[in-house]
Amino acid sequence: MQAKNSNLQTSVRYIKGVGPKRADTLKRLGLTTIEDILFYLPRRYEDRSNLKTIKEVEIGKAQTIKGEVLTFSVRRTKKGMNIFQLAVGDHTGVIYGIWFNQPFMRKFFRVGERVILHGKVERYDVLQINQPEYEILKPEETVNIHMGRITPIYPLTQNISQRYLRSLAYYAVKNYSHSIGEMLPTRLRAKHKLVDMQFAVNNAHFPKDFGAIERSYRRLVFDEFFILQIAIALKCRNIKEGLAGISHKIDENLLESFRKNLPFELTPSQLKAIKEIENDMKSAKPMNRLLEGDVGSGKTVVACYAILLTIKNKFQACIMAPTEILAQQHYMTLSKILAPYGVNVELLVSSLPENRKEEIRKSVKSGETDLIIGTHALIQEDVDFSRLGLAVIDEQHKFGVTQRSILREKGKSADILVMTATPIPRTLALTVYGDLDISVIKELPPGRRPVNTYWVEESGRGKVYNFIKEEINKGRQAYIVCPRIKETEKSQTQAASMMYEKLKDEVFKEFSVGLIHGKMGAQEKDVVMKKFKEGKLKILVSTVIIEVGIDVSNASIMLVENAERFGLAQLHQLRGRVGRGEYDSYCILMANPRTELAQKRLKAIAESTDGFEIAEEDLELRGSGEIFGTRQHGLPEMRFGSILHDRGIMELARKEAFDIIKEDPNLNDPRNYPIHQRLKERFGNKIELIKVG
Ligand code: ADP
Ligand code: MG
Repeated sequence: MQAKNSNLQTSVRYIKGVGPKRADTLKRLGLTTIEDILFYLPRRYEDRSNLKTIKEVEIGKAQTIKGEVLTFSVRRTKKGMNIFQLAVGDHTGVIYGIWFNQPFMRKFFRVGERVILHGKVERYDVLQINQPEYEILKPEETVNIHMGRITPIYPLTQNISQRYLRSLAYYAVKNYSHSIGEMLPTRLRAKHKLVDMQFAVNNAHFPKDFGAIERSYRRLVFDEFFILQIAIALKCRNIKEGLAGISHKIDENLLESFRKNLPFELTPSQLKAIKEIENDMKSAKPMNRLLEGDVGSGKTVVACYAILLTIKNKFQACIMAPTEILAQQHYMTLSKILAPYGVNVELLVSSLPENRKEEIRKSVKSGETDLIIGTHALIQEDVDFSRLGLAVIDEQHKFGVTQRSILREKGKSADILVMTATPIPRTLALTVYGDLDISVIKELPPGRRPVNTYWVEESGRGKVYNFIKEEINKGRQAYIVCPRIKETEKSQTQAASMMYEKLKDEVFKEFSVGLIHGKMGAQEKDVVMKKFKEGKLKILVSTVIIEVGIDVSNASIMLVENAERFGLAQLHQLRGRVGRGEYDSYCILMANPRTELAQKRLKAIAESTDGFEIAEEDLELRGSGEIFGTRQHGLPEMRFGSILHDRGIMELARKEAFDIIKEDPNLNDPRNYPIHQRLKERFGNKIELIKVG
């Protein structure tokens, strides 16, 4: 088994015809071993299986013919073009292959040789194919690589020809595909009618018919999803069964008093989420829940109740936010809500002096601090808890998946509540958050009015500025968001600074304008944010650092510069910064999109305010792979499968993977050894196989 596998690791250099230079070029395609080539699949196929006699060819269509080289010649046209002409005949007629400016072609052919030509047939005085694909048949050869079959067409890079790559693939398939190990138990393959791996690879490259291509891909996609789901199943098992959770006591009066102390009524969804969280926390298993809700839906207050419950049960809680500004905001909000309960809240951000930070860390370690709020990195890396009971991760879509497991190290039995404003389609949820239970906040708090969104071209800039002035004169405030400017290689920071200078000294010189960007020190940012919140600044020019969570209800206008540079999800997040108060609010997208796709995306965001709808639209427009920033989600990239189009297979794979882990939680069964092996190849040491019980 091992020997066979190492066989696949053979360098491409060992293939005849691959020298150092070729090897370098292949490397650019990610091809360094035989295995790489075996799994480098065609982009599409061409049906060249139907050989015609010359008499039978259809004019104007791509045809494949077989015949004998009768003669060839090179001639020059009056305009100086070099034409190579190859006459091929069979017992029914003659056809000409024509190559332009490739006189060297004549070296490849011999009179009397058998050849296959493929290409669009045209009729002039004679039958002719311009620039045909061709294959020369050796006398003894019965199988054709390039012709007379369903022919694979590979993605290419410079200096590699289709023929060359196809020949390599053929060589690899012929000599090595028998070495590919079979990961799936026979029983499982039979049950789902999955072809074996060798068949799959062989036919993905050189299919015997079109049905075989389909069956091959089904197998490859299944495997890809299956191993991912095995990893997720293991994670679930580790979390749910490997660790004993805290069984919290629920005091019925707590929720009552909590609600009374709020300045608003909880929405039905918020209450439902709270109930789900209570159930998790009552249970002896650790909570592992995702709280999903559109921007502004009120996730924080739900998390706040979970925190209160934890602290009432004499455990500590933490909240991790993606930015300092957000951590600060949480600190203010939560300190206020939790004030009646005598909770000890601390804020840990990097801008604090070192000795103060040390003090906070000590008080967390001793158990004196009940709730600590900080940025993700800071809490994860530096803080030891006395008895961590709950970790809340805000705006999870900013972090990778792995961080959650790191967190578990801090408090083995801690509950985890992940919050995200990025709505994700169900299939994606199964993949990324496959180990989480999900609560959804469906509705926005009452009284919210949808943000009026307009897409405006550069020519409308003057009007937009006037509109902003009017609104400010009515007492409102505005955000102006600037992305990186690609052409000039200006960073976001530079772009925002330039915009700031211009607006403050020219366009809006009668108003107070502020600037905030990621390169500023935390204290500096804090001062600016505070001024904006207090209404001392009327306009805040910023980079996308305000994208998440910032809550200033008097700010009712957002102008997004170069809006076409942002993803739909990001625009939706940005837009969520306004429309938080009682005023009519506006999001103006300044953009001159060049492509149709960009235009469609802007239309989509201007026409809908529903995050889920936008997510689906984004999915349609971008296709999978880039769904709503899968990279941000920490989703592993798919090679064969498409989360968008292969949902069915994904769900099959998920069920089988979970069943296997249920039966054999550590993959100790020798029959599952190949799965274990593949898991390690795919995810390295990121997946722990810890023993349970
Ligand atoms: P997000 O889900 O985007 O994190 P927040 O938790 O920041 O949203 O809430 C947005 C705003 O809505 C906050 O000002 C919060 O006080 C307010 N809010 C939350 N729940 C309600 C509610 N049920 N009724 C009215 N306002 C609410
Ligand atoms: Mg929030």
